[in-house]
Amino acid sequence: LPTSGDSIRQRFLDFYASRGHKVLPSASLVPDDPTVLLTIAGMLQFKPIFLGKVHRQVPCATTAQRCIRTNDIENVGRTSRHHTFFEMLGNFSFGDYFKKEAIKWAWELSTMEFGLPAERLWISVYKDDDEAFAMWHDEIGVPVERIKRMGEEDNFWTSGVTGPCGPCSEIYYDFHPERGHSDVDLGDDTRFIEFYNLVFMQYNRVTDGSLEPLKQKNIDTGLGLERMARILQKVPNNYETDLIFPIIEKASELANIPYALADDSVKMSLKIIGDHLRAIVYLLSDGVVPSNIGRGYVVRRLIRRAVRIGRLIGIKGDGRGNIEGAFLPSIAEKVIDLSTLIDSDVKARASRIMEELKREELRFVQTLERGEKLLEQMLADALSSAQENGTPPCLSGKDAFLLYDTYGFPVEITKEVADERGVSIDMNSFDIEMENQRRQSQAAHNAVKLAVGDGAELTENIPDTEFLGYDTLSTRAVVEG
Ligand code: ATP
Ligand code: MG
Ligand code: MG
Ligand code: MG
Repeated sequence: LPTSGDSIRQRFLDFYASRGHKVLPSASLVPDDPTVLLTIAGMLQFKPIFLGKVHRQVPCATTAQRCIRTNDIENVGRTSRHHTFFEMLGNFSFGDYFKKEAIKWAWELSTMEFGLPAERLWISVYKDDDEAFAMWHDEIGVPVERIKRMGEEDNFWTSGVTGPCGPCSEIYYDFHPERGHSDVDLGDDTRFIEFYNLVFMQYNRVTDGSLEPLKQKNIDTGLGLERMARILQKVPNNYETDLIFPIIEKASELANIPYALADDSVKMSLKIIGDHLRAIVYLLSDGVVPSNIGRGYVVRRLIRRAVRIGRLIGIKGDGRGNIEGAFLPSIAEKVIDLSTLIDSDVKARASRIMEELKREELRFVQTLERGEKLLEQMLADALSSAQENGTPPCLSGKDAFLLYDTYGFPVEITKEVADERGVSIDMNSFDIEMENQRRQSQAAHNAVKLAVGDGAELTENIPDTEFLGYDTLSTRAVVEG
């Protein structure tokens, strides 16, 4: 049985190649598609074929597609299964086979190639999809209590506001079969993980939101490589698989905190760094340049978040004694070491990637340091007015928020520094400022929720002046939480 991430990827591709699929390379993270900002799924490169705009070259294909999902940024490190960067293994039919074969092969792959025990697998189908239900039950033999009918949110897959879509059926792995069959919620991630999604792509969603049937019925699937690796490697989360853990170990070495000894919040920081560095390296490799708009903003946001979190867990300078240095490049080196079978172009681009990363990190550190100066000033003011009034020294929530919002200064750092001077922070009023901010951005966020990774989410609210803050939307609470 395969266990390493690389062997799982290979087995998947071989399995479908031996069933008539053409193995095709991953497309770039920068899609050739104006409606989507970044490649969010394996189907994206085939969209024109699904829509009948381009003639198919082969009846069916299989890929290991690099993906970015910025909509999952808040989940990173919090759930055990979400990344901003991940690989999606997929098999695709362009008007060739449909539901029956897709279901049969997905089951065979899961139980025979990957050796998952059948009784650990649960199935979801779209609420009205009696046909898929019957196939799983009658042909595959999954008992009815392990097949759940679910609604639009989970089981109707769309690639964006418009585009090809259809009902889907997912396979979940059960980590705790001893918990039984009653009151089961497949969304309970202390028990289940969704690993394979089979989309029965029959419709095109058009601009007015209605569904038009496609000329041909297609299959689009996605299996999360990191999730399968986590199951087969029997580790508690995707981050501790061989695909990501070496990157985390590098970061923990620079922070001088062994992962095994770290508390949960430090572990979460290390996981975020592990995740973000992969996303950053592959985005830079595919030609995305840090900036304040669109894709450039995605990579900038990820870089800044990784820098801040690294500083929070105690990485100083380059982590090796040079206080003026950058540390992201040495973690990126690990990502590049691991890249060979994910994207064979990355190694050749390594020096450019490292240069851009270093430049962006150092530029951001300057911004942070300006905030540090301002904080010094604020603390001095707080101390002197406390002395005048005979009250305990306290930094206002407004000040802490200004540092946070405009200077990208984590409130934990503000607190720590203030503490050292014997100054407290008015956290109540800080929280009120945060809440106001959150409410304002939530409205903007809701408007674009449907568009996974859509450009609107990332171009709205972004000043064209020099970027001083860091997260513009609801992602801002993550580091602080
Ligand atoms: P979830 O419900 O867990 O967020 P999803 O339903 O959004 O997953 P799909 O859009 O169905 O995911 O994508 C197909 C597969 O890709 C999933 O079954 C999963 O294995 C993988 N996947 C999706 N999002 C992520 C992510 N953020 N990180 C890692 N793997 C992912
Ligand atoms: Mg999701
Ligand atoms: Mg899901
Ligand atoms: Mg899904």
